[in-house]
Amino acid sequence: MALDELYQEILLDHYKQPRNKGRLTSADLDVELKNPFCGDEILLTILFDQDRIRDVAFEGHGCVISQASASLMTEKIKGMTIGEAEAAIERFSRMLKQESDAHGDHVCDGHCRHRFSDDELDELNALQGVCAYPTRVKCAMLAWRSLQQALQRYKTEHATPAH
Ligand code: ZN
Repeated sequence: MALDELYQEILLDHYKQPRNKGRLTSADLDVELKNPFCGDEILLTILFDQDRIRDVAFEGHGCVISQASASLMTEKIKGMTIGEAEAAIERFSRMLKQESDAHGDHVCDGHCRHRFSDDELDELNALQGVCAYPTRVKCAMLAWRSLQQALQRYKTEHATPAH
């Protein structure tokens, strides 16, 4: 199976059978974000264990890209520290950033040099082709922006006073 087809399968699989779907009743915080351009919605609930993401779940609806991205993200970040999750957000958003060559032509072409991971089979790389479609980048980023806000809020609320 070609890599493109495999990526397509991964996205559809996560859309149809989303992982970590639901709402954590014991969550430390929740963040709800909408993408008005597409009508996507994500509600993210996270349970922390000090600086580690102990559990995470999402509810939402919208296009395949927004929901598959949320499902893939929750699988990836569960168990990560806040620092690791922030690095994952950074890496993911870099993958989706459109790059142009000297002629202004888009160069990522569905095989972005800034893949999420060097492992082509890392499921998050299934979203790399989105960088060719700027309007869809908002869909793919929605869950990750929710996560970013959640981490910020948690850090603010649990800031340890400086010594
Ligand atoms: Zn969308």
